[in-house]
Amino acid sequence: MTDNEKSLIEKLRAVYSETTTEHILCPHNDRAVPESDGYSCFKSSCGETMKIWLKLDSDRVIRHTGFWTNGCAATIACGSMATELAKGSLVTDALSIDARAIADALVDFPEGNFHCAGLAEQALRTALINCLEISREPWKKMYRK
Ligand SMILES: [Zn+2]
Repeated sequence: MTDNEKSLIEKLRAVYSETTTEHILCPHNDRAVPESDGYSCFKSSCGETMKIWLKLDSDRVIRHTGFWTNGCAATIACGSMATELAKGSLVTDALSIDARAIADALVDFPEGNFHCAGLAEQALRTALINCLEISREPWKKMYRK
């Protein structure tokens, strides 16, 4: 590890919990999921964007999740945690994952970054709603790029 990396990690640890720091340095599910059953690209009012991909198994359980964001470090942690929390849930149950649940799972999440958890909530919810739309109208999946 270089001195630069060490000082970056120290700076993150001074602001964020151990859990949040881990999700910033090593985000989970930070990739696109091919042939997803639900997708969103959500832009927050402060200009950060988050994309979320969801892939279901035959029982409508969320099996694979992915996210991308151009947001700040806290937003990366929130995308990582939101996609972790959704994994293994039914689409309808995952609709209850809100900003508070994401922030609480990240442990001692700074209130000043709560809008980052809000962005992850909105991106996840939009992708879940897209899953429900596609299950009603499967042809919608064919026209998505
Ligand atoms: Zn942010």
